[in-house]
Amino acid sequence: MSYQSVNPYTGELLKEFPLHTDEEMLNALERADSRFKSFGALAERTAVLKRAAGLMIERREELAALVTMEMGKRIQESRDEVDLSSAILAYYAEHAERFLSKQPLESTVGEAWVEFEPIGVLVGVEPWNYPYYQLVRFVGPSFALGNTILLKHAPGIPQCALAFEKILTDAGAPEGAYTNLFLSNDQVSRLIEDPRVQGVALTGSEKAGESLASQAGKQLKKSTMELGGNDAFIVLDDFDPKLAAKFAVQGRMTNAGQACVGSKRFIAVDSIADEFLEEVLRLLSSFVPGDPTKEATTLAPLSSKLAQSRLLDQVNAALANGAKLVVGGKAPEGPGAFVLPTVLTNVAPANPAYRQEFFGPVALFFRAKDEVEALAIANDSPFGLGGSICTSDPDRARRLASKLQSGMVFLNSSALTTPELPFGGVKRSGFGRELSSFGIEEFANKKMVCIVDPAKVTHLVS
Ligand code: NAP
Repeated sequence: MSYQSVNPYTGELLKEFPLHTDEEMLNALERADSRFKSFGALAERTAVLKRAAGLMIERREELAALVTMEMGKRIQESRDEVDLSSAILAYYAEHAERFLSKQPLESTVGEAWVEFEPIGVLVGVEPWNYPYYQLVRFVGPSFALGNTILLKHAPGIPQCALAFEKILTDAGAPEGAYTNLFLSNDQVSRLIEDPRVQGVALTGSEKAGESLASQAGKQLKKSTMELGGNDAFIVLDDFDPKLAAKFAVQGRMTNAGQACVGSKRFIAVDSIADEFLEEVLRLLSSFVPGDPTKEATTLAPLSSKLAQSRLLDQVNAALANGAKLVVGGKAPEGPGAFVLPTVLTNVAPANPAYRQEFFGPVALFFRAKDEVEALAIANDSPFGLGGSICTSDPDRARRLASKLQSGMVFLNSSALTTPELPFGGVKRSGFGRELSSFGIEEFANKKMVCIVDPAKVTHLVS
């Protein structure tokens, strides 16, 4: 096994990197562990993050070109990802001190507070779909807190992985604070077993989540699991169906459909369903496969030929189980890993597709007789990552948002992400939160300290 850069638009093998050896991996772990014991003060760590944020902006074009070359993202989306990633690093540089300040507790037995302390070396395992953004969501808060990081990125984006490591090094991260490692899954398992490792953060599929969460659990180590989703996009009768279609298509087509919080199941109430679907199809027809390095391109390839064939197999299996193809369902000829925008209807609960995540430009379309049925369809899912509800009635919006079984709800919008909004899911979408103040607490020891006043102690519990 090796890490390979393959351009998914041309099919060309660009570069290949061997795995790190076990010895190199264990040396990196040793450096990370020793750095943990002598990491600089909070102000030094946040200064590194601030410089790294600046370097990302300085190197925007170079960083964005690597993303587009290695996983096929449209160039403007790659630039947007670099800017967002920089903003997340800057956010933790600015706010970490406040997030990590002592929190006083009201207590009947004396003066008490909680302080936030790092726990040690963390292992991060990350996917290819947002090569920098996925990293900074974990690295920004972990680094600010004072944990040290060993990072295994996805095997298809090694140049992005190295470019990000260089950003941190050039920003002044001390040796051992952050190390990129090209590892096999077995090597990751060995890291998790090592007593020096204190936590595991995964962003990836359900299957990877099952494996890594159980390994971390067996070792009694803290983990966060940011897994897949099949987010509902609900359109109610009091909302403009054309505007809803615009948001739904944005939500489904971002990153060529390879977003965990993409709008994957469109659920429209009967009275506006036809108008909504008609507009969805009109908008989807404007997505034309093209070179992702060109500004004018509207549809980028998927990340690899394997991703393309898997998605098409999934669509065909859905059709074989009774779904109806409204549009798409195929790939154009040529080396590019494209899948044309696809809409499926008649996906019955017995169809395996009903409960699956489609990681590409494929939307499932459902009709509901009213909001109650729309919500029931939305919640009839093994996942619970994000979800959207379109209604022009703010009270209805708030009421229904509370009933959606998901970690995030977006009202009158497709999903979006900003540094201050917590990100994560429930059910098979995983557990834990990234971003915001919640993200920095995940791998912290929330240590309680109490100066016990003997005069106030009436009974002791231990
Ligand atoms: P994936 O196949 O699970 O891979 C993600 C990462 O996990 C890769 O680095 C992969 O390395 C590694 N991995 C997989 N199995 C492993 C194991 N047993 N031990 C150690 N490492 C393992 O997922 P993907 O296809 O790249 O990414 C797409 C998935 O990620 C989708 O389901 C998407 O919804 C989800 N996602 C979730 C979020 C979120 O925040 N909730 C964000 C983005 C993406 P190898 O390839 O070497 O196995």
